Amino acid sequence: MARAMRLVIDSVAKSFGSTRVLDDISLDVPDGSRTAIVGASGSGKSTLLRLIAGFEEPDHGRISLGDRVLAGAGGRSMPAHRRGIGYVAQDGALFPHLTVEGNIAFGLRGARDRAARVREAMSLAALDPALAGRFPHQLSGGQQQRVALARALAPRPAVILLDEPFSALDTGLREQTRRAVIEALERSATTAVLVTHDQDEALTFGHGIGIMVDGRLAQSGVPSEVYDSPATPEIAAFLGAAVLLPATLGSGCAECVLGRIPIRHDRSGAGAAGTEVAGTEVAGTVAADSVASLAMVRPAQFELRTDASAPNATVTGIRRIGPITEVHLRLGDTEASTIELRLPHHEVIGLDPGVRVEVRVDGGVVLYPSR
Ligand code: ADP
Ligand code: MG
Repeated sequence: MARAMRLVIDSVAKSFGSTRVLDDISLDVPDGSRTAIVGASGSGKSTLLRLIAGFEEPDHGRISLGDRVLAGAGGRSMPAHRRGIGYVAQDGALFPHLTVEGNIAFGLRGARDRAARVREAMSLAALDPALAGRFPHQLSGGQQQRVALARALAPRPAVILLDEPFSALDTGLREQTRRAVIEALERSATTAVLVTHDQDEALTFGHGIGIMVDGRLAQSGVPSEVYDSPATPEIAAFLGAAVLLPATLGSGCAECVLGRIPIRHDRSGAGAAGTEVAGTEVAGTVAADSVASLAMVRPAQFELRTDASAPNATVTGIRRIGPITEVHLRLGDTEASTIELRLPHHEVIGLDPGVRVEVRVDGGVVLYPSR
């Protein structure tokens, strides 16, 4: 139903006073797709949304939607109300004195088919039509957020911006509301940008993800690709549990405490050095082999073998947590590298402290320069 359009942010910068809040932000959100921007509090997420919405002006760069320039490029900025952009805030910001129907119809003044559009928006946001006459204080938090979404969708915006719309909700309700919102955006094929400080929310929201660090977009791309090959160890750890093992690069493999592991993605720079010197000097190859690196593994990649012919780890502790068991392991002989694996109870039978096991890595590592 929406007039979905491609949103392009090109080299945008914004300062408040002498503080640079956004620095050289470029982002492409294709027509009808969803992108999540994730970052710590204060990293500039809301400011970015406010620039797209037209509540603030960029100092540099340009923002365009379809073939319309919204801001920048020396031209005059398009006023917020003419941009065709819907905005959903953290607390919903519903009008307390208006009913659900009144809230959703608010942006439809002048439209002849108002009643039908309100029904359509309620249905998109999975709102029971029986709620139409209620006031915001008579709704649950999740219902209020879905009304806020329906109100934003009703004028059929080209883009919907969502600023941490689920963070005020309890865990169970958050998950359910999140799913309802994604389905509504999917059904209406609306281009959407969500900002959040929740990594899982960002990774599951849609087609794109951007990692915001101190006003810069540190990495952007397809969520699964960014998760599997983060640009830096810091981004790896920010997006989810990550084990970083000291390693060296040796003929296409990472040599670490767990042995030789294939490299899924080499971001260490050592690979390039290795190729360069490979054909020249034997001494050069040795140097490349000994380049210190960090190998990144996601905990889900670890496989535990108890029938180990080549043990490389020792069980140091076992802790039962509800339906799973946490197994603490010391890798190799060093005290430094320890990991915790969460496994079903039946897989840990006989794993007492002191037992030698073999830890394998499924799917290869991402290699970074040593810090
Ligand atoms: P986030 O949404 O990621 O938490 P914000 O975009 O709200 O971050 O803020 C980023 C930084 O910009 C913060 O340091 C904040 O204090 C500052 N900031 C935001 N808006 C203004 C403003 N209107 N005037 C001055 N500083 C601002
Ligand atoms: Mg914010």
